[in-house]
Amino acid sequence: MTTNFASSRYARQVVLKEIGEAGQERLARSTAVIVGLGALGSNSANLLARAGVGTLRLVDRDFVDWTNLQRQSLFEEEDAARRLPKAEAAMRCLKRVNSEIRYEPITEDVNPGNIERLVAGATVLVDGLDNFYTRALVNEACIKLGTPWVYGACLGTFGNAATIIPGVSACLHCMLPEVGQAVTPPLTCETVGVLGAVAVLIAAWQSSEAVKIMVGRKDAVSNDLVHVDVWRNDFSSLPMKRNADCSICSQRKFGLLGKASRLATASLCGRNAVQIVPPPSFKIDFELLRQTLGRLFTLEENPYLIKFHADDHDLVVFHDGRVMVFGTSDPSAALSLYGKYIGG
Ligand SMILES: [Zn+2]
Repeated sequence: MTTNFASSRYARQVVLKEIGEAGQERLARSTAVIVGLGALGSNSANLLARAGVGTLRLVDRDFVDWTNLQRQSLFEEEDAARRLPKAEAAMRCLKRVNSEIRYEPITEDVNPGNIERLVAGATVLVDGLDNFYTRALVNEACIKLGTPWVYGACLGTFGNAATIIPGVSACLHCMLPEVGQAVTPPLTCETVGVLGAVAVLIAAWQSSEAVKIMVGRKDAVSNDLVHVDVWRNDFSSLPMKRNADCSICSQRKFGLLGKASRLATASLCGRNAVQIVPPPSFKIDFELLRQTLGRLFTLEENPYLIKFHADDHDLVVFHDGRVMVFGTSDPSAALSLYGKYIGG
């Protein structure tokens, strides 16, 4: 069966000599994993769904909040009011845009226990993350599995992007060897803010790099780290050089992937909140927890999570045992509330 591309929804893309019918068919056979569905990830997902990428794996641990609506283009007021998980809300929106492709919404925290499963089978991974620890983890998994990925980050009025082809380009560790050690960045979009337009620019750059990879034109991707500051009218690029001694892409020592999972905490960018992630072996009896908490507190709930207010903090519990503690950025205060009301 041949597709009549001239009259199809992809006509304007197929007529591009850089894509053509062969490129469009390759897109349809591709899987793009988008990790993080904030400003970068939601804008990338929008472009890639419209472009006709065969499968979009949409990964995010969080739910939609009112403060997201300023820049996260897949979400609407009703999603925030209902506190829908971002992966689900993104899929609902994108299905109305393009119902002909496959969606895999995944509401999970990205950690050493699941990253290789999340990357498996992907043609490309697009970074929509908000912290460098998880990016370093993504870098290790993608180098190990040979999956190209497109780094992107934005803060304030500036953003950066770079494309990493395993075995060819510099990896994230070649560029920024220290980032895997950092748990919380010193600056966050909570303290500095972020302009919606800069996220759209970086996501557009990332998406075009991802499309090049998916249509089989890895030779066309950028070898530079791209930097843009829309307020200072600065657009520059820095050539990236592979480090022949890089512990990740040369020596293949994957220190973060090998680390045992534990009760991990992370401050959430822009939320004055801490997330607590139990190890994969942790099994929660969610129904029992719901009943127990329901005797103590007034619960707000939907099919994905419950929310309650305790000790001047809002706590949100997901089915996998993850908890978000709002109103603090102090991991130990959050762990104490976790221990008090969830256990573990
Ligand atoms: Zn490297």
